[in-house]
Amino acid sequence: MTDSQLNIAVVGAGPGGYAAAFLAADLGMHVTLIDPELNPGGVCLYRGCIPSKALLHVAKLIEESEQSKNWGIEFAAPKIDLTRLRSWKEGIIKRLTGGLGQLSKQRHVEYIQGRAAFENSTTLRVSKADSTEAILSFDRIIIATGSRPAIIPSFKLDSPRLMDSTSALNLEDIPGSLLVVGGGYIGLELGSVYAALGTRVTVVEALSGLLPGADRDLVLSLHKRLEKMFEAILLNTTVSSLKEEDAGIRATFEGASVKEDQREKVFDRVLVSVGRKPNSEIAGLEKTQVKVGGRGFIEVNKQLQTADPSVYAIGDVAGEPMLAHKAMHEGRTAAEAIAGHKVAFEPAAIPAVVFTDPEVAWCGLTEIQAEKENREIKVAKFPWAASGRAITLDRPEGMTKLIIDPKTERVLGVGIVGVGAGELIAEGVLAIEMAAVAHDVAMTIHPHPTLSETVMNSAEVFFGTSTDIYRPKRG
Ligand code: NAD
Repeated sequence: MTDSQLNIAVVGAGPGGYAAAFLAADLGMHVTLIDPELNPGGVCLYRGCIPSKALLHVAKLIEESEQSKNWGIEFAAPKIDLTRLRSWKEGIIKRLTGGLGQLSKQRHVEYIQGRAAFENSTTLRVSKADSTEAILSFDRIIIATGSRPAIIPSFKLDSPRLMDSTSALNLEDIPGSLLVVGGGYIGLELGSVYAALGTRVTVVEALSGLLPGADRDLVLSLHKRLEKMFEAILLNTTVSSLKEEDAGIRATFEGASVKEDQREKVFDRVLVSVGRKPNSEIAGLEKTQVKVGGRGFIEVNKQLQTADPSVYAIGDVAGEPMLAHKAMHEGRTAAEAIAGHKVAFEPAAIPAVVFTDPEVAWCGLTEIQAEKENREIKVAKFPWAASGRAITLDRPEGMTKLIIDPKTERVLGVGIVGVGAGELIAEGVLAIEMAAVAHDVAMTIHPHPTLSETVMNSAEVFFGTSTDIYRPKRG
């Protein structure tokens, strides 16, 4: 049997799982894709990236329609029809997951709606959605079971008012007040959605700043805007208890900066967004040689192969960052590795994007990381107040920065805060992957007037040749 005739199973049909399954099928393998949902899509499509971005689009529209007062255009306050909003979001999910179902059929991938448990390294027991069971054997199995919201065990509260990202996306109502526990990706994205719909949002973050993984200068202008949108942002604060009362959930705050008269407050709803946990507790996994590390991630090598040669693992279950695009690339690498290609998953940069308004995006080396590693770097920043395009959008608070190796002048990292930062960061990823030096970026003609120019402009700042800003000569 050649590698391409292998019989493989992919457990979990999120972006990582379906990418692995589809590419494996394209490479000639016989593929079975197993997932509890009706169609492929996983958390990303059913209850993550896609529905949240649909709602964030709505939030942006509402915000812009208010800001447009500054430009002489006034709209009446929006009338929000929650039923239609929900069905628009559901329609997007249906369209995309249905499309993946079609792609699956076109590739002759056998899609099984059900849950898989390991019998041994190459055999799965699949409990199907139609209540039947099948024992199936494969040459290789790829685990792509993803992750789930982490919970705070002390919040022993069985209340529909207590939400995780999944229930928050269901948009049951527009609560008068919402407490968001955790100022990371999910808390800020979904907090922004609810705030735009009219909810008074309070965010509680245990650490000293929002989005702890991102450079502080990138978070600054987002923080300033969120301060206006949210009722309160409480840093260095945790929630020590939640109790349900008739009027809502009473939260007790803890932290050095919490004032005595602000220790308790009642909220209509609470969203817990304090991270995610890998789904590595797969039934029967102990019957294989797969190793699970301390934090619950399945251990893999650069080909995404686990300690069991027949089993591969990709995506959130195989380690951080827990991002769909990282999972997709890992899925492709695993499929190619199984097909016998000489491949390894060793990206120079994986972009991170927080889809707030403004968006925050970064890739490659961050200043925080460089400081930790005691690495010498030069940082070149271009403020969007000097970007014609940003001014036309009335959004001059953005900033683009390059993190550069002072000796080789190679671009090591890129950080952007501003509208559309999530789109712009792709150029940074390409620059890093192509080992671009600052000169390459500065010499690349960017279209005018666009926000993308700010990437070129920040490279010019590095050389002191930007004509869009003035830096007085020293000495
Ligand atoms: P996160 O890790 O981004 O943020 C969690 C935040 O909660 C952190 O700032 C942490 O310090 C804080 N925290 C932890 N315990 C706390 C406590 N007891 N009280 C107060 N604050 C506490 O996690 P998330 O927002 O839940 O998102 C989970 C993951 O999902 C992300 O790390 C990311 O990988 C993925 N995600 C990505 C996107 C995107 O790409 N745009 C969007 C949503 C989620």
